[in-house]
Amino acid sequence: MSKIHYKSAEEIELIRLSSMLVAKTHGEIAKVIAPGVKTIELDKLAETFIRDNGGIPAFLNYGGFPYSLCISLNDQVVHGFPGTHVLKEGDLVSVDCGVILNKYFGDSAFTFAIGGVSEQVKTLMRVTRECLDLGIEKAVVGNRIGDIGYAVQEHAEKHGFGVVKELVGHGVGLKLHEKPEVPNYGRRGSGIKLEEGMVIAIEPMINAGRAGVKFWDDGWTVSTVDGKASAHYEHTVAVKKGKADILSSFEYVDNVLKEKNN
Ligand code: MG
Ligand code: MG
Repeated sequence: MSKIHYKSAEEIELIRLSSMLVAKTHGEIAKVIAPGVKTIELDKLAETFIRDNGGIPAFLNYGGFPYSLCISLNDQVVHGFPGTHVLKEGDLVSVDCGVILNKYFGDSAFTFAIGGVSEQVKTLMRVTRECLDLGIEKAVVGNRIGDIGYAVQEHAEKHGFGVVKELVGHGVGLKLHEKPEVPNYGRRGSGIKLEEGMVIAIEPMINAGRAGVKFWDDGWTVSTVDGKASAHYEHTVAVKKGKADILSSFEYVDNVLKEKNN
């Protein structure tokens, strides 16, 4: 069992640089994601953009994962493979991206709607993003890890959605997955204390239907048991007194999507 690695202010700034490259990569994806695009094209774009900016795609070859992005469609929750699927109106696409820059990792995920999606899927996206924000609000000194999970779970379940339990958030630093685990469920006031220097990825994976998931024979893809949609948003954040410091950002992707919809 490895220990929690508490980061210095300098290390947190390095993780911010990595996380901001992830944020910009999501912005580049937002520019091109549309009906008619193959998901493998998004993977190539991300790999090229990350390398052009001096980074290394963190997921490529991680535990044997064969791509730079995890692209999870519709009922897929996480860890889907980019491929020959041609995006079409109504698809829900969760894109998870990691970068290594100056040896430090950054990790962030965003879920895109392709054209018009159902009202239920729109609500799922909104609520999952709210779950992320509510979890981040709890990532402050003096709280415990269970406070984050409680906030995420309470909000998702209030809307009748299922919280994935088999996969969790994690510490981020010189490794992609460090201690502690950051579950999207839990009890208030339970678990380890949150302290200055902790950098964690908070990443609610929320299902429109039941919470259960299945693991595919490809060794990676995770999908919902009931075939209903799933959404995933993730930020890398530093625990602080009073207010968490969000090291990644959705600003780039939000600006691109706003522009596209005008
Ligand atoms: Mg991720
Ligand atoms: Mg992660």
